[in-house]
Amino acid sequence: MIVAEDMYRLGSQRSVIRDLFEYGKKLAAEIGAENVYDFSLGNPTVPAPDCVNETIRSLTQTLDGMTLHGYTSAQGDEETRQAVADYLNRTHGTRFKADDFYMAMGAAAALSLCFRALTVDSSDEFITIAPFFPEYRVFVEAAGAKLVVVPADTKNFQIDFEELEKRISRHTKGIIINSPNNPSGAVYSEETIKRLAALLEKKEQEFGTVIFLLADEPYREIVYDGAKVPFITKYYKNTLVCYSFSKSLSLPGERIGYVLVPEEVAEHKAVYAAIAGAGRSLGYVCAPSLFQKVLVSCIGQTGDIKEYQKNRDLLYVGLTNIGYECFKPQGAFYLFVKSPSEDSEAFCELAKEEHLLLVPADGFGCPGYVRISYCVDTEMIKRALPAFERLFARCRVTLPIF
Ligand code: PLP
Repeated sequence: MIVAEDMYRLGSQRSVIRDLFEYGKKLAAEIGAENVYDFSLGNPTVPAPDCVNETIRSLTQTLDGMTLHGYTSAQGDEETRQAVADYLNRTHGTRFKADDFYMAMGAAAALSLCFRALTVDSSDEFITIAPFFPEYRVFVEAAGAKLVVVPADTKNFQIDFEELEKRISRHTKGIIINSPNNPSGAVYSEETIKRLAALLEKKEQEFGTVIFLLADEPYREIVYDGAKVPFITKYYKNTLVCYSFSKSLSLPGERIGYVLVPEEVAEHKAVYAAIAGAGRSLGYVCAPSLFQKVLVSCIGQTGDIKEYQKNRDLLYVGLTNIGYECFKPQGAFYLFVKSPSEDSEAFCELAKEEHLLLVPADGFGCPGYVRISYCVDTEMIKRALPAFERLFARCRVTLPIF
């Protein structure tokens, strides 16, 4: 083979979600889009707040092309980084400076920069807690490190600390957490974060190492019933925050986010420089210029989160009434459902026969569960409920039960 085998494999394997998407398109052409219930994707359906388009209009009218579309400095415009720092300081009572931020192309790039910056050699490990975003494995392995998975706490979808402690070693470079969580919808409580911080501090002392806590936070603002998302830097010194505006501002295709490296992080200057070096080595150059400028006016705003809450309530109540066992999401826009059959892949295959496109959670490290994305049209949920009911009845007859 004249190409890198790993890259070839990554590029030619289609993900389960991608497969479902293609299947959905084909099915829609055959039976009509209104008869396909696609719950597979995490693409925000709520429009970006008005501020985004208004700012773009005003920027294009007032700035010259070079200022608008030219390269920014690699770490991002000073004005953007200052706006992000000011917003977080206002909201969380922190004291970040513009120079603590490195603008990145969404959370995917922010995470990749961190893994690459922190990986010293192939014995380095990053731990994640199931259920987890499957791309973590791709990003960590691309950086030359190993991903270690802690099994899910399927009761509360917090952290199974006994299992986590067993996996922390002197090779542990970092722990990746994602709250609000894709796919479970759980928000880690303050108690969970305090326990996690205490455990990591204990392990840092025991091994004489630095263990970074990587907080992957694209869903930070998408919470329901007043759920509070603890701001991790306040609890643990060696925290790096990987943030994205993909979901809060409904801008996933525009690729804008950041890495926050607080000043108190061990070897702050070296960590920040290594993140910049990772950006350079990956050829990222800079985050999109126009959207850096949009942030200066729109930071702190969100799309209409009440729309997601409406969908969550409709789907959660609808499915639990049918008899499905669902975890009630406190945030993000996914409903995590226990597959009525122990084989969640077979269950999702059967769901396709009812034109329901659901994602088995095996790839999220949590077999036996299914992810249902509810960033969809509310009317589609209403139309889909009878299909969920038929599916529940059929699966009890045809598939092995737990
Ligand atoms: N992390 C999690 C948990 C996600 O769900 C996603 C996207 O769905 C990402 C990271 C990547 O987000 P971005 O579009 O900002 O790269």
